Amino acid sequence: MGYQYDDQNIFAKILRGEIPSEPLLETEHALAFEDIRPQAPTHVLVIPKGPYVCYDHFAQEATDAEIVDFTRAVGEVCRRLGLERSGWRLIANAGADAVQEVPHMHVHILAGRPLGRMLE
Ligand code: IMP
Repeated sequence: MGYQYDDQNIFAKILRGEIPSEPLLETEHALAFEDIRPQAPTHVLVIPKGPYVCYDHFAQEATDAEIVDFTRAVGEVCRRLGLERSGWRLIANAGADAVQEVPHMHVHILAGRPLGRMLE
């Protein structure tokens, strides 16, 4: 499947500095910042800097260096916030059924309260 990246999405604007953000972490290929509508006491988004629509697009087309940097950035955010103490959840929404709102690849890190079972 070919993905078309829309560079007018809100995370692209954050990456270009057109919308201010307070990064929790910035690496060569990734940026982490707080979700504007937090669903838990800790709700952080981590995005790659490259123009990828969703997880699959990223996995297919990002370089190994981008993937490694992004993956490590997620772990680094969790370490910096001390999330290993009580635990955390990583979520990636892709496409309509998952109600992906922003068409720029991102993962959610949720923590700070009991998150319940996701799958029975
Ligand atoms: P999605 O449903 O996985 O696409 O989630 C997108 C997330 O981006 C939602 O949780 C929104 O609250 C969040 N969001 C939308 N706009 C902004 C923003 O400007 N700053 C930070 N988070 C945002």
